[in-house]
Amino acid sequence: MNTMAATPHPQSHETELQIAQVVFESPFGMLVTDAAGVILRVNAAFTRMSGYSAAEAVGKTPALLKSGRQDQHFYQAMWDSLHDDRCWQGEIWNRGKNGRVYAEHLHIAAVTMDAGRVTHYVASFTDISLAKDAEILVHRLAYYDGLTHLPNRRLLRDRIGQALLSSARSGLCGAVFFIDVDNFRSINDTDGHDVGDQLLVELAQRLRAVVREGDTVARQGGDEFVLLLEDLSESTEIGTTMALQVGEKLRSAMATPIYLSGRDYQCRLSIGVAVFEQQDTLEGLLLHADLALQQAKKAGRNTQRFFDPQMQAALELRNALEAELEKALQWGHLRLYYQPQVDRARRVVGVEALLRWQHPLRGMVPPGDFIPLAEDCGLILPIGAWVLEQACEQLRIWSQDARMRELQVAVNVSARQFAQPHFVAQVQAVLAASGVNPARLKLELTESLVLDNVRDAIEKMRAIKRLGVSFSMDDFGTGYSSLSYLAQLPLDQLKIDRSFVMNIPGKSSDETIARTIISMGRGLEMQVIAEGVETEVQRAFLAMHGCDAYQGYLFGRPLPAQELQAYVQQA
Ligand code: C2E
Ligand code: MG
Ligand code: MG
Repeated sequence: MNTMAATPHPQSHETELQIAQVVFESPFGMLVTDAAGVILRVNAAFTRMSGYSAAEAVGKTPALLKSGRQDQHFYQAMWDSLHDDRCWQGEIWNRGKNGRVYAEHLHIAAVTMDAGRVTHYVASFTDISLAKDAEILVHRLAYYDGLTHLPNRRLLRDRIGQALLSSARSGLCGAVFFIDVDNFRSINDTDGHDVGDQLLVELAQRLRAVVREGDTVARQGGDEFVLLLEDLSESTEIGTTMALQVGEKLRSAMATPIYLSGRDYQCRLSIGVAVFEQQDTLEGLLLHADLALQQAKKAGRNTQRFFDPQMQAALELRNALEAELEKALQWGHLRLYYQPQVDRARRVVGVEALLRWQHPLRGMVPPGDFIPLAEDCGLILPIGAWVLEQACEQLRIWSQDARMRELQVAVNVSARQFAQPHFVAQVQAVLAASGVNPARLKLELTESLVLDNVRDAIEKMRAIKRLGVSFSMDDFGTGYSSLSYLAQLPLDQLKIDRSFVMNIPGKSSDETIARTIISMGRGLEMQVIAEGVETEVQRAFLAMHGCDAYQGYLFGRPLPAQELQAYVQQA
Protein backbone atom coordinates (compact mmCIF):
# COMPACT_ATOMS: atom_id res chain seq x y z
CA MET A 1 0.00 0.00 0.00
CA ASN A 2 1.18 3.50 -0.75
CA THR A 3 0.77 5.76 2.21
CA MET A 4 1.07 8.98 0.29
CA ALA A 5 -0.45 9.99 -3.00
CA ALA A 6 0.31 6.97 -5.10
CA THR A 7 2.96 7.89 -7.61
CA PRO A 8 4.64 4.76 -8.89
CA HIS A 9 8.31 4.56 -7.96
CA PRO A 10 10.95 2.16 -9.09
CA GLN A 11 11.64 1.07 -5.55
CA SER A 12 11.26 -2.32 -3.99
CA HIS A 13 8.24 -3.09 -1.94
CA GLU A 14 10.50 -3.50 1.08
CA THR A 15 12.08 -0.05 0.73
CA GLU A 16 8.69 1.49 0.48
CA LEU A 17 7.58 -0.22 3.62
CA GLN A 18 10.65 1.10 5.42
CA ILE A 19 9.95 4.62 4.25
CA ALA A 20 6.36 4.30 5.34
CA GLN A 21 7.53 3.11 8.74
CA VAL A 22 9.86 6.10 9.20
CA VAL A 23 7.17 8.49 8.08
CA PHE A 24 4.84 6.88 10.52
CA GLU A 25 7.22 7.56 13.39
CA SER A 26 6.97 11.26 12.71
CA PRO A 27 6.04 13.64 15.54
CA PHE A 28 2.85 14.42 13.62
CA GLY A 29 -0.18 12.43 14.52
CA MET A 30 -1.08 9.99 11.75
CA LEU A 31 -4.04 7.87 11.00
CA VAL A 32 -4.86 5.63 8.06
CA THR A 33 -8.35 4.49 7.16
CA ASP A 34 -9.79 2.36 4.44
CA ALA A 35 -12.06 3.77 1.79
CA ALA A 36 -15.03 3.50 4.12
CA GLY A 37 -13.25 5.52 6.79
CA VAL A 38 -12.55 2.64 9.17
CA ILE A 39 -9.28 3.21 11.02
CA LEU A 40 -6.54 0.76 10.05
CA ARG A 41 -3.49 2.23 11.67
CA VAL A 42 -2.52 5.06 13.98
CA ASN A 43 0.93 6.15 15.13
CA ALA A 44 2.39 6.88 18.56
CA ALA A 45 1.91 10.65 18.17
CA PHE A 46 -1.80 10.00 17.59
CA THR A 47 -1.98 8.10 20.86
CA ARG A 48 -0.13 10.87 22.69
CA MET A 49 -2.51 13.50 21.40
CA SER A 50 -5.81 11.69 21.57
CA GLY A 51 -5.21 9.32 24.44
CA TYR A 52 -6.52 6.38 22.39
CA SER A 53 -4.20 3.42 21.94
CA ALA A 54 -3.90 1.72 18.56
CA ALA A 55 -6.03 -1.15 19.84
CA GLU A 56 -8.79 1.28 20.89
CA ALA A 57 -8.76 3.20 17.64
CA VAL A 58 -8.40 0.53 15.02
CA GLY A 59 -11.72 -0.66 13.67
CA LYS A 60 -13.48 2.57 14.65
CA THR A 61 -14.01 5.65 12.49
CA PRO A 62 -12.51 9.09 13.19
CA ALA A 63 -15.96 10.05 14.53
CA LEU A 64 -14.46 8.68 17.72
CA LEU A 65 -12.72 12.04 18.04
CA LYS A 66 -15.69 14.27 17.36
CA SER A 67 -15.85 17.30 19.65
CA GLY A 68 -19.20 18.52 18.46
CA ARG A 69 -17.68 21.90 17.63
CA GLN A 70 -18.02 21.45 13.90
CA ASP A 71 -21.38 21.12 12.27
CA GLN A 72 -22.65 18.97 9.44
CA HIS A 73 -21.71 21.59 6.82
CA PHE A 74 -18.12 21.49 7.92
CA TYR A 75 -17.84 17.74 7.35
CA GLN A 76 -19.78 17.93 4.13
CA ALA A 77 -17.32 20.50 2.78
CA MET A 78 -14.44 18.28 3.87
CA TRP A 79 -15.84 15.27 2.01
CA ASP A 80 -16.59 17.34 -1.06
CA SER A 81 -13.02 18.54 -1.14
CA LEU A 82 -11.65 15.02 -0.64
CA HIS A 83 -13.81 13.81 -3.47
CA ASP A 84 -12.92 16.59 -5.89
CA ASP A 85 -9.31 17.41 -4.97
CA ARG A 86 -8.28 14.18 -3.23
CA CYS A 87 -7.18 16.18 -0.22
CA TRP A 88 -8.35 18.54 2.45
CA GLN A 89 -6.65 20.65 5.07
CA GLY A 90 -7.82 22.95 7.78
CA GLU A 91 -8.28 23.43 11.50
CA ILE A 92 -10.50 21.18 13.49
CA TRP A 93 -11.43 20.69 17.12
CA ASN A 94 -11.24 17.11 18.36
CA ARG A 95 -11.97 15.50 21.67
CA GLY A 96 -9.45 13.18 23.30
CA LYS A 97 -10.21 10.12 25.37
CA ASN A 98 -10.02 12.10 28.61
CA GLY A 99 -12.51 14.64 27.30
CA ARG A 100 -9.96 17.35 26.51
CA VAL A 101 -10.90 19.30 23.41
CA TYR A 102 -7.90 20.35 21.37
CA ALA A 103 -7.35 22.18 18.14
CA GLU A 104 -5.35 20.53 15.43
CA HIS A 105 -4.20 21.36 12.00
CA LEU A 106 -5.30 18.43 9.90
CA HIS A 107 -4.22 17.29 6.47
CA ILE A 108 -6.07 14.41 4.77
CA ALA A 109 -5.00 12.84 1.51
CA ALA A 110 -6.89 10.22 -0.41
CA VAL A 111 -4.82 7.28 -1.68
CA THR A 112 -5.94 6.12 -5.07
CA MET A 113 -5.18 3.14 -7.18
CA ASP A 114 -5.09 2.65 -10.94
CA ALA A 115 -8.43 4.04 -12.08
CA GLY A 116 -8.57 6.73 -9.48
CA ARG A 117 -10.43 4.47 -7.10
CA VAL A 118 -9.88 5.56 -3.45
CA THR A 119 -8.42 2.79 -1.37
CA HIS A 120 -7.28 4.64 1.74
CA TYR A 121 -7.23 7.99 3.50
CA VAL A 122 -4.14 9.21 5.30
CA ALA A 123 -4.56 11.92 7.86
CA SER A 124 -1.71 13.77 9.55
CA PHE A 125 -2.15 16.45 12.14
CA THR A 126 -0.44 18.70 14.65
CA ASP A 127 -1.85 19.92 17.91
CA ILE A 128 -2.25 23.68 17.67
CA SER A 129 -4.05 24.09 21.00
CA LEU A 130 -1.19 26.09 22.43
CA ALA A 131 -1.23 28.48 19.55
CA LYS A 132 -5.02 28.62 19.78
CA ASP A 133 -4.84 29.33 23.51
CA ALA A 134 -2.34 32.08 22.83
CA GLU A 135 -4.66 33.50 20.20
CA ILE A 136 -7.55 33.51 22.64
CA LEU A 137 -5.39 35.09 25.31
CA VAL A 138 -4.20 37.80 22.97
CA HIS A 139 -7.78 38.49 22.01
CA ARG A 140 -8.76 38.71 25.64
CA LEU A 141 -5.89 41.04 26.46
CA ALA A 142 -6.67 43.23 23.51
CA TYR A 143 -10.40 43.50 24.06
CA TYR A 144 -11.09 42.88 27.73
CA ASP A 145 -10.14 44.62 30.91
CA GLY A 146 -7.81 42.41 32.93
CA LEU A 147 -9.29 43.34 36.29
CA THR A 148 -13.03 43.18 35.79
CA HIS A 149 -13.06 41.04 32.61
CA LEU A 150 -15.46 43.53 31.10
CA PRO A 151 -14.96 44.67 27.49
CA ASN A 152 -12.37 47.41 27.33
CA ARG A 153 -12.43 50.74 25.52
CA ARG A 154 -11.46 49.20 22.19
CA LEU A 155 -14.14 46.54 22.18
CA LEU A 156 -16.64 49.10 23.42
CA ARG A 157 -15.95 51.35 20.45
CA ASP A 158 -16.40 48.34 18.17
CA ARG A 159 -19.71 47.51 19.77
CA ILE A 160 -20.97 51.07 19.66
CA GLY A 161 -19.99 51.23 16.00
CA GLN A 162 -21.98 48.05 15.38
CA ALA A 163 -24.88 49.39 17.42
CA LEU A 164 -25.03 52.53 15.28
CA LEU A 165 -25.09 50.44 12.11
CA SER A 166 -27.81 48.22 13.44
CA SER A 167 -29.78 51.23 14.64
CA ALA A 168 -29.60 52.55 11.09
CA ARG A 169 -31.11 49.28 9.84
CA SER A 170 -33.74 48.80 12.51
CA GLY A 171 -34.69 52.41 13.17
CA LEU A 172 -34.53 51.68 16.90
CA CYS A 173 -32.72 54.05 19.24
CA GLY A 174 -30.24 53.07 21.92
CA ALA A 175 -28.34 54.75 24.71
CA VAL A 176 -24.78 55.12 25.95
CA PHE A 177 -24.19 55.70 29.65
CA PHE A 178 -20.95 57.10 31.03
CA ILE A 179 -20.75 56.04 34.64
CA ASP A 180 -18.32 57.51 37.13
CA VAL A 181 -17.90 56.41 40.74
CA ASP A 182 -18.02 59.63 42.73
CA ASN A 183 -15.90 58.73 45.69
CA PHE A 184 -13.65 56.15 44.10
CA ARG A 185 -10.53 58.19 44.01
CA SER A 186 -10.60 59.02 47.69
CA ILE A 187 -11.20 55.36 48.62
CA ASN A 188 -8.36 54.31 46.35
CA ASP A 189 -6.04 56.92 47.82
CA THR A 190 -6.86 56.33 51.46
CA ASP A 191 -7.48 52.59 51.60
CA GLY A 192 -5.07 51.46 48.93
CA HIS A 193 -5.19 50.06 45.45
CA ASP A 194 -6.05 46.52 46.54
CA VAL A 195 -9.28 47.73 48.06
CA GLY A 196 -9.82 49.95 45.04
CA ASP A 197 -9.37 46.99 42.70
CA GLN A 198 -11.74 44.75 44.63
CA LEU A 199 -14.26 47.52 44.69
CA LEU A 200 -14.09 47.86 40.92
CA VAL A 201 -14.62 44.12 40.47
CA GLU A 202 -17.65 44.22 42.74
CA LEU A 203 -19.00 47.33 41.02
CA ALA A 204 -18.58 45.64 37.64
CA GLN A 205 -20.64 42.68 38.84
CA ARG A 206 -23.39 44.87 40.20
CA LEU A 207 -23.65 46.89 37.03
CA ARG A 208 -23.68 43.69 34.96
CA ALA A 209 -26.46 42.28 37.13
CA VAL A 210 -28.74 45.23 36.38
CA VAL A 211 -28.71 44.93 32.61
CA ARG A 212 -29.83 42.38 30.05
CA GLU A 213 -27.62 39.62 28.66
CA GLY A 214 -27.05 41.34 25.33
CA ASP A 215 -26.19 44.76 26.77
CA THR A 216 -22.57 45.79 26.94
CA VAL A 217 -21.02 46.94 30.19
CA ALA A 218 -17.45 48.06 29.57
CA ARG A 219 -14.68 49.57 31.62
CA GLN A 220 -13.16 52.62 30.03
CA GLY A 221 -10.29 52.73 32.49
CA GLY A 222 -10.00 54.02 36.04
CA ASP A 223 -13.39 54.14 37.68
CA GLU A 224 -15.25 54.92 34.48
CA PHE A 225 -17.71 52.37 33.23
CA VAL A 226 -19.80 52.56 30.09
CA LEU A 227 -23.10 50.88 29.41
CA LEU A 228 -24.46 50.40 25.92
CA LEU A 229 -28.15 49.65 25.49
CA GLU A 230 -29.46 48.75 22.07
CA ASP A 231 -32.83 48.38 20.41
CA LEU A 232 -34.72 50.47 22.94
CA SER A 233 -37.56 51.87 20.90
CA GLU A 234 -38.57 53.51 17.65
CA SER A 235 -39.41 56.64 19.61
CA THR A 236 -36.54 58.62 21.10
CA GLU A 237 -38.86 59.80 23.85
CA ILE A 238 -39.74 56.31 24.97
CA GLY A 239 -36.09 55.32 24.59
CA THR A 240 -35.11 58.20 26.86
CA THR A 241 -37.64 57.14 29.49
CA MET A 242 -36.33 53.59 29.35
CA ALA A 243 -32.77 54.83 29.69
CA LEU A 244 -33.83 56.95 32.64
CA GLN A 245 -35.21 53.88 34.38
CA VAL A 246 -32.07 51.88 33.73
CA GLY A 247 -29.99 54.76 35.12
CA GLU A 248 -32.09 54.73 38.28
CA LYS A 249 -31.60 50.98 38.55
CA LEU A 250 -27.86 51.39 38.20
CA ARG A 251 -27.83 53.95 40.97
CA SER A 252 -30.03 51.90 43.26
CA ALA A 253 -27.74 48.90 42.70
CA MET A 254 -25.33 50.91 44.82
CA ALA A 255 -27.80 51.31 47.69
CA THR A 256 -26.33 48.40 49.61
CA PRO A 257 -22.79 49.17 50.69
CA ILE A 258 -20.01 46.96 49.36
CA TYR A 259 -18.38 44.97 52.14
CA LEU A 260 -14.63 44.62 51.72
CA SER A 261 -11.96 43.57 54.21
CA GLY A 262 -14.04 44.38 57.23
CA ARG A 263 -15.51 47.63 56.01
CA ASP A 264 -18.62 48.87 54.27
CA TYR A 265 -18.09 51.06 51.24
CA GLN A 266 -20.95 53.19 50.07
CA CYS A 267 -20.49 54.01 46.41
CA ARG A 268 -22.39 56.65 44.51
CA LEU A 269 -22.59 57.12 40.79
CA SER A 270 -22.65 60.07 38.45
CA ILE A 271 -24.17 59.09 35.14
CA GLY A 272 -24.20 60.88 31.80
CA VAL A 273 -26.53 59.49 29.15
CA ALA A 274 -26.69 60.08 25.41
CA VAL A 275 -29.56 58.54 23.49
CA PHE A 276 -28.57 57.72 19.92
CA GLU A 277 -30.36 57.30 16.65
CA GLN A 278 -29.22 56.13 13.26
CA GLN A 279 -27.66 59.42 12.17
CA ASP A 280 -25.30 59.76 15.13
CA THR A 281 -21.57 59.20 14.82
CA LEU A 282 -19.38 57.29 17.21
CA GLU A 283 -17.25 60.27 18.18
CA GLY A 284 -20.24 62.56 18.55
CA LEU A 285 -22.00 60.04 20.72
CA LEU A 286 -19.05 59.55 23.06
CA LEU A 287 -18.62 63.30 23.34
CA HIS A 288 -22.30 63.78 24.19
CA ALA A 289 -22.28 61.11 26.88
CA ASP A 290 -19.13 62.60 28.35
CA LEU A 291 -20.64 66.09 28.36
CA ALA A 292 -23.72 64.77 30.11
CA LEU A 293 -21.46 63.13 32.68
CA GLN A 294 -19.64 66.41 33.27
CA GLN A 295 -23.03 68.02 33.86
CA ALA A 296 -23.99 65.31 36.34
CA LYS A 297 -20.76 65.94 38.23
CA LYS A 298 -21.28 69.69 38.15
CA ALA A 299 -24.78 69.20 39.51
CA GLY A 300 -23.25 67.86 42.70
CA ARG A 301 -22.67 64.23 41.66
CA ASN A 302 -24.73 61.19 42.68
CA THR A 303 -27.14 61.91 39.88
CA GLN A 304 -27.73 61.34 36.19
CA ARG A 305 -27.97 63.79 33.34
CA PHE A 306 -29.04 63.42 29.74
CA PHE A 307 -27.31 65.09 26.91
CA ASP A 308 -29.46 67.76 25.32
CA PRO A 309 -28.97 70.20 22.45
CA GLN A 310 -28.49 73.16 24.78
CA MET A 311 -25.46 71.45 26.19
CA GLN A 312 -24.21 71.05 22.66
CA ALA A 313 -24.79 74.71 21.93
CA ALA A 314 -22.85 75.71 25.03
CA LEU A 315 -20.06 73.41 23.98
CA GLU A 316 -19.92 74.82 20.49
CA LEU A 317 -19.88 78.37 21.80
CA ARG A 318 -17.07 77.43 24.10
CA ASN A 319 -15.05 75.86 21.32
CA ALA A 320 -15.64 78.85 19.10
CA LEU A 321 -14.67 81.27 21.86
CA GLU A 322 -11.53 79.32 22.59
CA ALA A 323 -10.36 79.59 19.01
CA GLU A 324 -11.31 83.25 18.83
CA LEU A 325 -9.73 84.12 22.15
CA GLU A 326 -6.36 83.02 20.89
CA LYS A 327 -6.72 85.40 17.98
CA ALA A 328 -8.03 88.17 20.22
CA LEU A 329 -4.73 88.17 22.01
CA GLN A 330 -2.71 88.26 18.78
CA TRP A 331 -4.90 90.83 17.11
CA GLY A 332 -5.04 93.17 20.07
CA HIS A 333 -8.74 92.83 20.84
CA LEU A 334 -8.19 92.64 24.58
CA ARG A 335 -8.52 95.84 26.61
CA LEU A 336 -7.86 96.82 30.16
CA TYR A 337 -10.50 98.93 31.86
CA TYR A 338 -9.89 100.66 35.15
CA GLN A 339 -12.39 101.00 37.98
CA PRO A 340 -11.77 103.63 40.67
CA GLN A 341 -11.15 102.70 44.29
CA VAL A 342 -11.77 105.45 46.80
CA ASP A 343 -10.84 106.11 50.42
CA ARG A 344 -13.15 107.21 53.26
CA ALA A 345 -13.05 110.76 51.94
CA ARG A 346 -14.11 109.48 48.47
CA ARG A 347 -10.82 110.43 47.00
CA VAL A 348 -9.62 108.08 44.23
CA VAL A 349 -6.56 106.30 45.58
CA GLY A 350 -6.32 103.47 43.12
CA VAL A 351 -7.91 101.51 40.32
CA GLU A 352 -8.58 97.89 39.60
CA ALA A 353 -7.53 96.74 36.14
CA LEU A 354 -10.37 94.68 34.62
CA LEU A 355 -10.04 92.78 31.42
CA ARG A 356 -12.41 93.27 28.50
CA TRP A 357 -12.61 91.51 25.16
CA GLN A 358 -13.63 93.80 22.36
CA HIS A 359 -15.05 91.16 20.05
CA PRO A 360 -15.60 92.33 16.45
CA LEU A 361 -18.97 90.54 16.23
CA ARG A 362 -20.07 89.68 19.73
CA GLY A 363 -19.33 93.13 21.13
CA MET A 364 -17.84 93.54 24.58
CA VAL A 365 -17.42 90.11 26.15
CA PRO A 366 -17.29 90.26 29.97
CA PRO A 367 -14.41 88.46 31.69
CA GLY A 368 -16.77 86.04 33.42
CA ASP A 369 -17.51 84.59 29.97
CA PHE A 370 -13.96 83.96 28.90
CA ILE A 371 -11.60 83.87 31.88
CA PRO A 372 -12.77 80.43 33.10
CA LEU A 373 -12.34 79.22 29.53
CA ALA A 374 -8.89 80.76 29.31
CA GLU A 375 -8.00 79.03 32.55
CA ASP A 376 -9.12 75.64 31.24
CA CYS A 377 -7.24 75.85 27.99
CA GLY A 378 -4.13 77.50 29.35
CA LEU A 379 -4.56 80.75 27.43
CA ILE A 380 -4.75 82.49 30.78
CA LEU A 381 -0.94 82.37 30.89
CA PRO A 382 -0.24 84.59 27.88
CA ILE A 383 -3.32 86.65 28.69
CA GLY A 384 -2.25 87.14 32.31
CA ALA A 385 1.22 88.13 31.16
CA TRP A 386 -0.31 90.64 28.77
CA VAL A 387 -2.48 92.14 31.54
CA LEU A 388 0.50 92.55 33.80
CA GLU A 389 2.55 94.21 31.08
CA GLN A 390 -0.32 96.43 30.03
CA ALA A 391 -1.02 97.55 33.61
CA CYS A 392 2.65 98.39 34.14
CA GLU A 393 2.76 100.27 30.86
CA GLN A 394 -0.23 102.29 32.08
CA LEU A 395 1.52 102.95 35.37
CA ARG A 396 4.51 104.21 33.40
CA ILE A 397 2.33 106.60 31.40
CA TRP A 398 0.56 107.81 34.53
CA SER A 399 3.85 108.29 36.37
CA GLN A 400 4.32 111.37 34.21
CA ASP A 401 1.14 112.96 35.58
CA ALA A 402 1.15 114.53 39.03
CA ARG A 403 -2.31 113.31 40.02
CA MET A 404 -2.29 109.92 38.30
CA ARG A 405 1.08 108.90 39.70
CA GLU A 406 -0.53 108.71 43.16
CA LEU A 407 -2.75 105.82 42.13
CA GLN A 408 -2.11 102.21 42.82
CA VAL A 409 -3.17 99.73 40.12
CA ALA A 410 -4.63 96.39 41.25
CA VAL A 411 -4.16 93.48 38.87
CA ASN A 412 -6.08 90.20 39.12
CA VAL A 413 -3.93 87.09 39.08
CA SER A 414 -5.40 83.72 38.25
CA ALA A 415 -4.44 80.49 39.97
CA ARG A 416 -2.67 78.98 37.01
CA GLN A 417 -0.71 82.10 36.38
CA PHE A 418 0.41 82.28 39.99
CA ALA A 419 1.30 78.58 40.06
CA GLN A 420 3.90 78.97 37.30
CA PRO A 421 7.34 78.36 38.80
CA HIS A 422 8.66 81.54 37.24
CA PHE A 423 5.81 83.82 38.32
CA VAL A 424 8.02 85.83 40.68
CA ALA A 425 10.61 86.31 37.96
CA GLN A 426 7.87 87.34 35.55
CA VAL A 427 6.62 90.09 37.87
CA GLN A 428 10.15 91.25 38.46
CA ALA A 429 10.92 91.36 34.74
CA VAL A 430 7.78 93.30 33.86
CA LEU A 431 8.48 95.83 36.59
CA ALA A 432 12.08 96.22 35.46
CA ALA A 433 11.09 96.63 31.82
CA SER A 434 8.59 99.38 32.56
CA GLY A 435 10.71 101.03 35.20
CA VAL A 436 7.69 101.83 37.34
CA ASN A 437 7.64 102.14 41.10
CA PRO A 438 6.70 98.65 42.40
CA ALA A 439 4.77 100.24 45.26
CA ARG A 440 2.19 101.36 42.68
CA LEU A 441 1.38 97.75 41.79
CA LYS A 442 -0.99 95.57 43.79
CA LEU A 443 -1.82 91.95 42.98
CA GLU A 444 -5.26 90.52 43.72
CA LEU A 445 -5.25 86.87 44.68
CA THR A 446 -8.13 84.59 45.63
CA GLU A 447 -8.37 82.23 48.57
CA SER A 448 -8.59 79.11 46.47
CA LEU A 449 -5.42 80.13 44.64
CA VAL A 450 -3.56 80.35 47.93
CA LEU A 451 -5.06 77.17 49.34
CA ASP A 452 -3.95 75.15 46.31
CA ASN A 453 -0.52 75.15 47.84
CA VAL A 454 -0.22 77.38 50.91
CA ARG A 455 3.51 76.89 51.38
CA ASP A 456 4.34 77.74 47.79
CA ALA A 457 1.97 80.72 47.89
CA ILE A 458 3.56 82.16 51.00
CA GLU A 459 7.02 81.78 49.54
CA LYS A 460 6.10 83.50 46.29
CA MET A 461 4.16 86.24 48.02
CA ARG A 462 7.10 87.01 50.27
CA ALA A 463 9.46 87.18 47.31
CA ILE A 464 7.13 89.51 45.45
CA LYS A 465 6.61 91.67 48.51
CA ARG A 466 10.36 92.08 48.74
CA LEU A 467 10.16 93.71 45.32
CA GLY A 468 7.85 96.31 46.87
CA VAL A 469 4.55 95.03 45.40
CA SER A 470 1.50 94.67 47.66
CA PHE A 471 -1.28 92.08 47.87
CA SER A 472 -5.03 92.12 48.20
CA MET A 473 -7.23 89.10 48.93
CA ASP A 474 -10.05 89.27 46.38
CA ASP A 475 -13.60 87.94 46.89
CA PHE A 476 -12.84 87.52 50.55
CA GLY A 477 -15.42 85.60 52.55
CA THR A 478 -16.52 83.33 49.71
CA GLY A 479 -13.84 80.71 50.33
CA TYR A 480 -12.60 79.06 53.47
CA SER A 481 -11.44 82.29 55.11
CA SER A 482 -9.57 80.29 57.67
CA LEU A 483 -7.83 82.53 60.15
CA SER A 484 -5.01 80.10 60.66
CA TYR A 485 -3.61 80.51 57.16
CA LEU A 486 -4.74 84.10 56.70
CA ALA A 487 -2.44 85.27 59.48
CA GLN A 488 0.53 83.66 57.74
CA LEU A 489 0.02 85.44 54.45
CA PRO A 490 1.83 88.70 53.79
CA LEU A 491 -1.37 90.48 52.72
CA ASP A 492 -1.96 94.22 52.71
CA GLN A 493 -5.65 94.24 52.03
CA LEU A 494 -8.83 92.18 52.30
CA LYS A 495 -11.53 92.76 49.75
CA ILE A 496 -15.08 92.10 50.94
CA ASP A 497 -16.88 90.23 48.18
CA ARG A 498 -19.68 91.92 46.32
CA SER A 499 -22.12 89.15 47.27
CA PHE A 500 -22.09 90.37 50.89
CA VAL A 501 -22.06 94.07 50.08
CA MET A 502 -25.10 93.53 47.89
CA ASN A 503 -27.28 92.55 50.87
CA ILE A 504 -26.32 95.14 53.40
CA PRO A 505 -27.89 96.61 55.26
CA GLY A 506 -30.77 94.20 55.59
CA LYS A 507 -29.57 90.62 55.53
CA SER A 508 -28.18 90.14 58.97
CA SER A 509 -25.85 87.24 58.16
CA ASP A 510 -24.16 89.31 55.45
CA GLU A 511 -23.95 92.30 57.74
CA THR A 512 -22.21 90.10 60.27
CA ILE A 513 -19.80 88.78 57.66
CA ALA A 514 -18.91 92.30 56.47
CA ARG A 515 -18.40 93.50 60.05
CA THR A 516 -16.32 90.44 60.89
CA ILE A 517 -14.08 90.90 57.88
CA ILE A 518 -13.51 94.53 58.81
CA SER A 519 -12.54 93.69 62.37
CA MET A 520 -10.47 90.75 61.19
CA GLY A 521 -8.55 93.05 58.86
CA ARG A 522 -7.98 95.51 61.65
CA GLY A 523 -6.73 92.73 63.94
CA LEU A 524 -4.30 91.52 61.30
CA GLU A 525 -3.27 95.06 60.38
CA MET A 526 -4.65 94.79 56.91
CA GLN A 527 -6.63 97.38 55.07
CA VAL A 528 -10.21 96.45 54.13
CA ILE A 529 -11.87 97.43 50.86
CA ALA A 530 -15.47 96.69 49.88
CA GLU A 531 -16.29 95.91 46.25
CA GLY A 532 -19.61 96.29 44.47
CA VAL A 533 -20.71 99.31 46.49
CA GLU A 534 -23.67 100.67 44.57
CA THR A 535 -25.61 102.74 47.08
CA GLU A 536 -24.94 105.40 49.64
CA VAL A 537 -26.62 103.26 52.30
CA GLN A 538 -24.13 100.49 51.70
CA ARG A 539 -21.22 102.90 51.92
CA ALA A 540 -22.54 104.44 55.11
CA PHE A 541 -23.03 101.05 56.76
CA LEU A 542 -19.51 99.94 55.85
CA ALA A 543 -18.00 103.27 56.88
CA MET A 544 -19.75 103.06 60.23
CA HIS A 545 -18.02 99.75 60.87
CA GLY A 546 -14.63 101.04 59.88
CA CYS A 547 -14.17 100.02 56.25
CA ASP A 548 -11.14 101.77 54.74
CA ALA A 549 -11.82 101.83 51.02
CA TYR A 550 -14.59 101.33 48.46
CA GLN A 551 -15.05 100.24 44.91
CA GLY A 552 -18.31 100.13 43.03
CA TYR A 553 -20.70 101.78 40.63
CA LEU A 554 -21.47 104.39 43.31
CA PHE A 555 -18.01 105.83 42.61
CA GLY A 556 -17.46 104.79 39.06
CA ARG A 557 -17.70 101.97 36.56
CA PRO A 558 -14.68 100.37 34.90
CA LEU A 559 -13.48 102.76 32.17
CA PRO A 560 -10.82 102.83 29.47
CA ALA A 561 -7.57 104.42 30.69
CA GLN A 562 -8.15 107.80 29.00
CA GLU A 563 -11.65 108.19 30.35
CA LEU A 564 -10.59 107.07 33.79
CA GLN A 565 -7.86 109.67 33.77
CA ALA A 566 -10.31 112.41 32.80
CA TYR A 567 -12.66 111.23 35.54
CA VAL A 568 -9.95 111.32 38.21
CA GLN A 569 -8.62 114.69 37.18
CA GLN A 570 -11.95 116.43 37.22
CA ALA A 571 -12.95 114.93 40.59
P1 C2E B 1 -13.29 90.78 40.53
O1 C2E B 1 -11.81 90.83 40.53
O2 C2E B 1 -13.96 90.47 41.81
O3 C2E B 1 -13.76 92.16 39.94
C1 C2E B 1 -14.86 92.86 40.39
C2 C2E B 1 -15.98 92.70 39.47
O4 C2E B 1 -17.11 93.38 40.00
C3 C2E B 1 -15.74 93.34 38.10
O5 C2E B 1 -16.45 92.57 37.18
C4 C2E B 1 -16.41 94.68 38.26
O6 C2E B 1 -16.78 95.26 37.03
C5 C2E B 1 -17.61 94.31 39.08
N1 C2E B 1 -18.12 95.43 39.82
C6 C2E B 1 -17.43 96.43 40.40
N2 C2E B 1 -18.26 97.28 41.04
C7 C2E B 1 -19.52 96.81 40.86
C8 C2E B 1 -20.81 97.25 41.29
O7 C2E B 1 -20.98 98.24 41.96
N3 C2E B 1 -21.89 96.48 40.93
C9 C2E B 1 -21.73 95.39 40.18
N4 C2E B 1 -22.82 94.69 39.84
N5 C2E B 1 -20.52 94.94 39.75
C10 C2E B 1 -19.43 95.64 40.09
P2 C2E B 1 -15.83 92.19 35.83
O8 C2E B 1 -15.03 93.30 35.26
O9 C2E B 1 -16.93 91.59 35.01
O10 C2E B 1 -14.81 91.08 36.24
C11 C2E B 1 -15.26 89.86 36.72
C12 C2E B 1 -14.15 89.03 37.22
O11 C2E B 1 -13.27 88.63 36.18
C13 C2E B 1 -13.24 89.73 38.20
O12 C2E B 1 -13.82 89.73 39.46
C14 C2E B 1 -12.02 88.90 38.14
O13 C2E B 1 -12.15 87.76 38.94
C15 C2E B 1 -12.00 88.48 36.70
N6 C2E B 1 -11.04 89.32 35.99
C16 C2E B 1 -11.22 90.52 35.44
N7 C2E B 1 -10.07 90.95 34.87
C17 C2E B 1 -9.16 89.99 35.07
C18 C2E B 1 -7.78 89.83 34.73
O14 C2E B 1 -7.13 90.69 34.14
N8 C2E B 1 -7.16 88.68 35.10
C19 C2E B 1 -7.84 87.71 35.78
N9 C2E B 1 -7.18 86.60 36.11
N10 C2E B 1 -9.12 87.82 36.13
C20 C2E B 1 -9.78 88.95 35.78
MG1 MG C 1 -10.50 91.61 41.49
MG1 MG D 1 -13.82 90.47 43.61
